[in-house]
Amino acid sequence: MQVPQRVEEILDHLRDPSFEIRQDAARKLKGTYEDEALPLLLHAATDEDMDVRLAVVDSLNNFKSQEAEEALIQALFDEEWEVKWAALRGLGSLWGETHIRKMGDKLLEKRVSGIEAIEKKPNPKYIKPLLAMLDDEEEVQVAAARTLTRLRDPDAIPHLKDIQNEGSKELRAIVEETLINLGDIDTIRAQSNGSGAQIACDVCQQMLPLSFLKKVGSWREDDILYLCQFHYEEHVEKIQPFEGKLKTCKVCKTNWPKTDVNEGMCPNCREKRYYSMDPAPEGQFRCFLSHKVRYERDKSPIDFKGFPVSHRSIYQLIQQSAKAPFLTSQAIKIMQGAFDKGYLMCEQCRTFQPLKKIVKGEDFREECVCDNCDQRGAS
Ligand SMILES: [Zn+2]
Ligand SMILES: [Zn+2]
Ligand SMILES: [Zn+2]
Repeated sequence: MQVPQRVEEILDHLRDPSFEIRQDAARKLKGTYEDEALPLLLHAATDEDMDVRLAVVDSLNNFKSQEAEEALIQALFDEEWEVKWAALRGLGSLWGETHIRKMGDKLLEKRVSGIEAIEKKPNPKYIKPLLAMLDDEEEVQVAAARTLTRLRDPDAIPHLKDIQNEGSKELRAIVEETLINLGDIDTIRAQSNGSGAQIACDVCQQMLPLSFLKKVGSWREDDILYLCQFHYEEHVEKIQPFEGKLKTCKVCKTNWPKTDVNEGMCPNCREKRYYSMDPAPEGQFRCFLSHKVRYERDKSPIDFKGFPVSHRSIYQLIQQSAKAPFLTSQAIKIMQGAFDKGYLMCEQCRTFQPLKKIVKGEDFREECVCDNCDQRGAS
């Protein structure tokens, strides 16, 4: 079959109602490198069907041509995030820039770290990718707005103004700060009239730009604290040694007790990440703590915040301590809750066991052993 004919057929299959046929067609398109295919793809890059656009954009970096690059840059502003991310990955490959590729990753934390990497080596060609990221999840928007300050390009002003009054107080504050840094007169005026979007320190109420504030989180409180440098230092000094130091979440930049930060992320960002993942197949579950898919037999009888967790993950969470041998207050809360439901943690098989199976230890503060482990130890 001639190349154009074959590409037409693939594009048709991309509009098929069956998911399998569409997936297979997308795979075939990804393996298309012939120059004769390019004009058809450029035309289909603005197709009204999202699946078509996504597959086309995903294969455009097969062509080392200026037209393909321009089509990818245009697709950065696609209304569908999936298409936009594919365009970022494509440009990243075409330009040989890993950070731009990362900005198109499906995982939020990778997109944020991709943006932060280019913050350290600003280059005018990053403007368009960054502007595209002003339409994404909030943590990405915040990182993109912050990085645009470093690029000092007034072309960013209208794009920032589009989202100036949207989102949380944090997004509004960073967009305002960037607009002021880029010299936008309206925003500078609003700020000096006292109608700006700065955020107050939760202790002294001083209004400050976002970059002058530190955020502090704790699983005991729902709200995130915003603190000026002085009150942040005061807060840190009051932390008891056994509670451990604070660590900054790599996604939302909130400072949490070290033991609450998992793979560099605070509990809020971990939870959000969990929701963004595919559901587990039948007969399996996704562990709320490790985010890995596990078999039912690995499921702990004790859940975490109402979500399923594996034996191993909940044991690790309980064992985690800022300063041995103290238990974290979260660990005590989990074990107390399990005990109230009739379960104790067997120290040997490291799983929660029903009270009737526990033969040593009567309280969660003691070393408990289940009958299985006890017999195994005796024989
Ligand atoms: Zn303060
Ligand atoms: Zn976070
Ligand atoms: Zn046991």
